[in-house]
Amino acid sequence: MEKILNYIDGKLIEPVGAQYIENIEPATGKVYSLTPDSDHRDIEMAYEAASKSFRKWAELPAAERSRILLRISELIEQNLETLALAESKDNGKPLKLARMVDIPRARDNFSFFATAILHTSTDTYDMGLSGFNYTLRQPVGVAGCISPWNLPLYLFSWKVAPALAAGCTVVGKPSEITPYTAYLLGQLCIKAGLPPGVFNIVHGYGHKVGQAITEHPGIRAISFTGGTSTGKRIAQSAAPHLKKLSLELGGKNSTIVLEDCDYQKALSTAVRASFSNQGQICLCGSKILVQRGIYDRFKKDFVAKVSELKVGDPYSETTQMGALVSENHLEKVLSYIDLAQEEGGKVLTGGQRIQLPAPFDGGYYLEPTVIEGLPATCRTNREEIFGPVVTLLPFDTAEEAIAMANATEYGLACSIFTSDLNSAHLMARQIEAGVVWVNTWLLRDLRTPFGGMKSSGIGREGGRYALEFFTEPKNICVAY
Ligand code: NAD
Repeated sequence: MEKILNYIDGKLIEPVGAQYIENIEPATGKVYSLTPDSDHRDIEMAYEAASKSFRKWAELPAAERSRILLRISELIEQNLETLALAESKDNGKPLKLARMVDIPRARDNFSFFATAILHTSTDTYDMGLSGFNYTLRQPVGVAGCISPWNLPLYLFSWKVAPALAAGCTVVGKPSEITPYTAYLLGQLCIKAGLPPGVFNIVHGYGHKVGQAITEHPGIRAISFTGGTSTGKRIAQSAAPHLKKLSLELGGKNSTIVLEDCDYQKALSTAVRASFSNQGQICLCGSKILVQRGIYDRFKKDFVAKVSELKVGDPYSETTQMGALVSENHLEKVLSYIDLAQEEGGKVLTGGQRIQLPAPFDGGYYLEPTVIEGLPATCRTNREEIFGPVVTLLPFDTAEEAIAMANATEYGLACSIFTSDLNSAHLMARQIEAGVVWVNTWLLRDLRTPFGGMKSSGIGREGGRYALEFFTEPKNICVAY
């Protein structure tokens, strides 16, 4: 069986303990490769390599770093089909989605930050005849980048690319559930001529490898995307070392549909926002608030569209939803469907595991599920389900919709559909979320700040926000 390898000091190597974790294809439920079960010894090696290469990488002119990162971006483009297939096999997502979204975005993450560093400038502060100040932004040192399984290469590269562009060297850990495209990325970095040690990838479990990264005294900054409870644990481990932290955590996002919206656009976007990637995107709108005057019509049309979604073979061109990422995760999502019913919710469509014919009979498929009849304050409407399960809730006034959207510990994203732009701007101001869309969903400009409030995280990624995270400002004051 194929063994995935760690990428340390420019080489693809086995973990020190020579232990492996079975890597499962969610579409079939079968083991298809082995992931290194690394530990603190592998992290120590990765750290040594990253630390040794730091000065040289940090002091390279930005144009040099840019050239190498652009080469990585080009290689991702050249290998798009291989990477998309690998992502689909590892995660269960439709191949079409990996081809159109995940891998192009990984390519763009590298080219965006490779070119962003060619256009940055720093500040000066004139003090008249007393002197002046200038501020350098210097890379923090070795950075730790830890990513989740839902958008594997997309989110891993969203951290690694700005870290490398800023001049940091990196110890990275992709999710043990979806390690494969990070393994391929390591191979592309070797081809691109990235100097050894600048970027290291250590595979394995969060409680071993992730924990070793967050506790390592030499790793000065941690950029983490994943669940809120893991984020809290990381904040605790990092605190004694006073590390810089960027935490992109869970969400419970609302889609708000007002009576005066462009109805067809709101309807089709709400379906996409609910079920893209089997509902496993932190930005998915899983709580759909619909103004009372159009509630019944919207419910009927929404349920009709959802029941037509084609769930199945991720490799088929016509599939709209593939498999959930794992048996455990499927069980968790099913438990929320049970909870919703215990809380008094009514399943309008879906709710059941799907049994497909061979070779997909062991895969983790779930019907897209729509539930109504629950108050905004119940657990189903406050907690993150992270699967193809959404609830419909009626509201009367904009104020009521805002209160319902904010009635959760999370604060990541929200979409508002209305033709009254004044009302949209006013509502957007009052929504407790780091990202608000008006008449759209998941339209991304990589320059904008990305991240959440409340339990959805600390800090922002994207554009200069990411470059600032991976650098420290140093003020130099000069007297005449
Ligand atoms: P997770 O928290 O279980 O794991 C994320 C990563 O952290 C994995 O690589 C894991 O191995 C590692 N990890 C686990 N325990 C660790 C520890 N003690 N120390 C260090 N690292 C550890 O999350 P997941 O299940 O992989 O991903 C789903 C979650 O990610 C959802 O809650 C989702 O909302 C969130 N997410 C957030 C965003 C965002 O941008 N805000 C984007 C995507 C996903």
